[in-house]
Amino acid sequence: MLILLEAGASAEQVGQVLALLESAGVKAQVNESAEAPSIAAPHASKVLKADRIEALPGVRKVVPITSPFKLASADGAVQKTVVDVRGVRIGGGGLALVAGPCGVESREQLFATARYVAEAGVTLLRAGAFKPRTSPYSFQGLGLEGLRLLEEARREFGLGIVTEAMDVETFDAVERSADMVQIGARNMQNFALLKRAGRSAKPVLLKRGPSATLEEWLYAAEYVLGEGNRQLVLCERGIRTWSDHARNTLDLSVVPAAKALTHLPVMVDPSHGTGRRDLVVPCARAAVAVGADGLLVETHCQPEKALSDGPQALLASDFFQMVEQCREIHRVLKETPAGFLAF
Ligand code: PEP
Ligand code: MN
Repeated sequence: MLILLEAGASAEQVGQVLALLESAGVKAQVNESAEAPSIAAPHASKVLKADRIEALPGVRKVVPITSPFKLASADGAVQKTVVDVRGVRIGGGGLALVAGPCGVESREQLFATARYVAEAGVTLLRAGAFKPRTSPYSFQGLGLEGLRLLEEARREFGLGIVTEAMDVETFDAVERSADMVQIGARNMQNFALLKRAGRSAKPVLLKRGPSATLEEWLYAAEYVLGEGNRQLVLCERGIRTWSDHARNTLDLSVVPAAKALTHLPVMVDPSHGTGRRDLVVPCARAAVAVGADGLLVETHCQPEKALSDGPQALLASDFFQMVEQCREIHRVLKETPAGFLAF
């Protein structure tokens, strides 16, 4: 259940509610909010009647969380989650942009790309040091050396770093270097990894699995949230369908569908979502229009030489164009009196 408190509820009154929950063996969490605090208490209705809690001073109302996603669901929260990654707010009405090459390949490649990413006013750099590749014979990433180069790029260009953790064994190292840890599509149901990410102090970007339903994706989110990490962002990156014109099918309808069910921000990755450079910019524009909280995009200083995902990497010129167009679409939709982008 979600316990809504009066705006002026005192610390003592909040304490009384928490004491009652604790005496019933219920784990609860206080959400501070600008308007009024609330207490999320998943599964409390199994042991306590709502009117018992509503009788306590300072309590305004008890709302049942009927959703199976007790922590991710919109009805279990009084406000939308906003995740702060090195000063970039993801959620809350802005358009967060994260861009960079698929993988860290060399200092020259990373720096050349990071330089124009920063020039475009994008302040979060993405690049994998550990790469999940379909073939074991493909480039697997530079590993720890890649993380070191990412740290260097942060210092050089003042960019926040988003990079993938592929397993529990290397999570600590990735966590130390990253400003946001990515859980890749193929790891969406790696439950040990999800739980480890849930114990991290760093924000987490959770990609949708290539064949995952929205329900499965939200249950995966629940694993992270359940360990205490509330700084979680979802990212749609395309699913496997019968289409043969693109690497994946970018499921843009999942953005409003997810946002109706969860308070978590939802980003879109049109690069893996299409796998084709010529489709990335149009789909990025559409993602903004459908209400995505941000975009994760691959761009490379020399895509023809890329060691992974070259065909989907935007050229610098396309990238500048995409940033400009997406920001403009976002501005227009946000400023329209009809409020097309409702957050
Ligand atoms: C990536 O972001 O480069 C990546 C491997 O993504 P995904 O997990 O979506 O395939
Ligand atoms: Mn990639």
